[in-house]
Amino acid sequence: MEKKNIITIDGWSSCGKSTLARQLAEKLGYVYIDSGAMYRAITLYFMRNHVDWTNAGAVHNALENINMHFEFNNSSNRSEIYLNDENVEYVIRDLVIAEKVSEVSTIAEVRKFAVRQQQKMGQKANTVMDGRDIGTTVFPDADLKIFMTADIIIRIKRRFAELVEKNPNITIDEVRANLEMRDYIDSNREVSPLRKAEDAIVLDNSNLTIDEQLEFALKLAEERGLN
Ligand code: C5P
Repeated sequence: MEKKNIITIDGWSSCGKSTLARQLAEKLGYVYIDSGAMYRAITLYFMRNHVDWTNAGAVHNALENINMHFEFNNSSNRSEIYLNDENVEYVIRDLVIAEKVSEVSTIAEVRKFAVRQQQKMGQKANTVMDGRDIGTTVFPDADLKIFMTADIIIRIKRRFAELVEKNPNITIDEVRANLEMRDYIDSNREVSPLRKAEDAIVLDNSNLTIDEQLEFALKLAEERGLN
């Protein structure tokens, strides 16, 4: 099989990784894969089915019953995630999932399960994938690696604006606590912690518009002949 082009976008929570990844994929004609959605969907399954994820056997059995795939939805113009054939793209964005997903994502077997599927997806098509360990673990030989960061206050405000639309009762303190907790767990876990790959290019978008960050990434892609 011909080797496909891979662009990885890793970084802290709520840096705008998925916005950039989605737009970049659309501009380049690549497939966009949201790896965080996979960890969120696994967490949703565990919560709904009362899986005790501190028990290795229970995790192993639960994973055997999980099938995930992405489908492009023409009306939302996005690729959306399905968990056992149910579209869960919107329920997985809830704060109740965000509160548990980082804990579930520390489990080695969960990561092995997700990474294997992510690698398969990247063999099928030119792909932009975003997450925490895509440039370090999933595709260490990617053609372009971007590591995104932004000021924590700006990240909290962005995520709050997104969540308050769906849940007017949410407070900025809840959002702050969640982001700080996820950043901490994600960067301190044993298996594939959030790290900048040595060959990743840092994109700090604290003071950039969405168009400016896209321009920055497109230029890098062009320089590497990925367009
Ligand atoms: O990107 P998103 O915020 O939706 O990811 C949700 C969570 O999933 C992250 O906070 C992290 O705990 C986990 N994750 C991960 N590895 C990835 C993508 C996401 O551990 N590649």
